[in-house]
Amino acid sequence: MTAQILFYIIIAIIIINFIKDKVLDAINAKHYSDPIPETLNDVYDTEEYKKSQAYKTVNYKFGIWTSLFSFALTLSFLLLDGFEYVDNMARSYTENPILIALIFFGIIMIASDIITTPFSYYKTFVIEEKFGFNKTTKKLFILDKLKGLVMMAIIGGGIISLIIWFYQLTGNQFWLYAWGIITVFTVFMNMFYSKLIVPLFNKQTPLEDGDLRNKISAYAESVGFNLDKIFIIDGSKRSTKANAYFSGFGNEKRVTLYDTLVNDLDDEEIVAVLAHEVGHYKKKHIIFNLVTSILLTGFTLFILSIFISNPLLSNAIGVEVPSFHVGLIAFGLLYSPISELTSLIMNYASRVFEYQADDYAKNTYKAEPLITSLKKLSKNSLSNLTPHKAYVFMHYSHPTLLERVENLKK
Ligand SMILES: [Zn+2]
Repeated sequence: MTAQILFYIIIAIIIINFIKDKVLDAINAKHYSDPIPETLNDVYDTEEYKKSQAYKTVNYKFGIWTSLFSFALTLSFLLLDGFEYVDNMARSYTENPILIALIFFGIIMIASDIITTPFSYYKTFVIEEKFGFNKTTKKLFILDKLKGLVMMAIIGGGIISLIIWFYQLTGNQFWLYAWGIITVFTVFMNMFYSKLIVPLFNKQTPLEDGDLRNKISAYAESVGFNLDKIFIIDGSKRSTKANAYFSGFGNEKRVTLYDTLVNDLDDEEIVAVLAHEVGHYKKKHIIFNLVTSILLTGFTLFILSIFISNPLLSNAIGVEVPSFHVGLIAFGLLYSPISELTSLIMNYASRVFEYQADDYAKNTYKAEPLITSLKKLSKNSLSNLTPHKAYVFMHYSHPTLLERVENLKK
């Protein structure tokens, strides 16, 4: 194996992946105008249906342009030895491997953020705006970007520094220590994400006493679930799209409802959505996902530890002086088909879990309000009611609306 061959393998992976994605998108787009299944006839009226068709098409076209752009950018960066250039730049400031890595990733992150910002700006202020979804102000958009970057620098920079430090201390054993620290971090984030990270971006207020809260408590009690932490989050300051999610476990478990969800749904529908979320918890999906992601991380780090000290990795992407941070990038590119595969499996598991959570809501509460809430949420986000099977298989973490409604009606 030479660096040259590895380089061609990386280029091939990028090209094949791009073609695969574009073919899937095209197949899916061909079915945008399929007749709507009988069961979902009441989701859109004619006017809204037209609007949803237009929304899908605009997003499809926008997707082609953005992915073409980033595809061309990645390829030219590799072909023009961009990593070598950035690595030399970082090395001109310091000789400390950790600092070199931080400068290296810092430059790449900030540059790619600057380059892709016009795209996310267009998506938010032109596309989402045109279809009435956008509530973000330009000030909020910029603030979000800056906060995201700072958070990334602290968390990403901290973790990468630790990993390289472990590598310097223990050689190829580093993966065990890296795994340990990432596991602690993952569990910690799972527990305290809502307390530590969410407040940086949103305001959360406890659901006030009243009819809704009583109905939720009555349901929670009926299934023996201790649910006193229910929060409303001001999602409406960014978008009209609605959501609800469950986070944490043990004493830290809480349900967060978007204010948009509370506005769009009636009380019974909200309880049904919550029953679905409780189902995820009771069926141990949350623990399963956490444990699986920890095991997958361990597996990936172990594979990384086999190859990382081989200079071929750095050489493959045109960098002469081998290093951990450049090797990491090359490894990430070479490993991407495997991570594709694991995400496929995780998506499959997630779709199975969604059915289980729906069934739980149906059996412990009612199916009907869950059906109407799913339909309302689909309508309000102008979602695609006729996605192609292959596209669903590859990309969907939830079954389609049709599949879920049919399952709930069984
Ligand atoms: Zn779910």
